[in-house]
Amino acid sequence: MKAKIKKCYSAENNDGGTELVWHRHGMAAKRYLAMEIGCDFDEVADFKRRPEFDSYAETEKVPDEVLLSLGWWLTCQKRLCDSWVFEESYKASGNQVICDECNAESLKGEDNAG
Ligand SMILES: [Zn+2]
Repeated sequence: MKAKIKKCYSAENNDGGTELVWHRHGMAAKRYLAMEIGCDFDEVADFKRRPEFDSYAETEKVPDEVLLSLGWWLTCQKRLCDSWVFEESYKASGNQVICDECNAESLKGEDNAG
């Protein structure tokens, strides 16, 4: 029997960010998102289908550069920094999810070391 292909769904989390999930059934996806976000099933905000991400069902992870190219913002991966990272910052830092400020800091560090 051929497995049903998973589809991508999303909901808004408590930080105003977006949670993605891949599931075969919409209702199950919503239940899973409620669990991830930590709210009740009926409280899941902005629950929707994300057909544009269906093709990532196998890894269940959309590459950062894809999200950024679609205009998404990601959180800076530097410790203790929660600034937003845009596509320009990503490119400027050599394809890392690092904000402009942290990138400038790390460049400064390299200068001092050299
Ligand atoms: Zn940062």
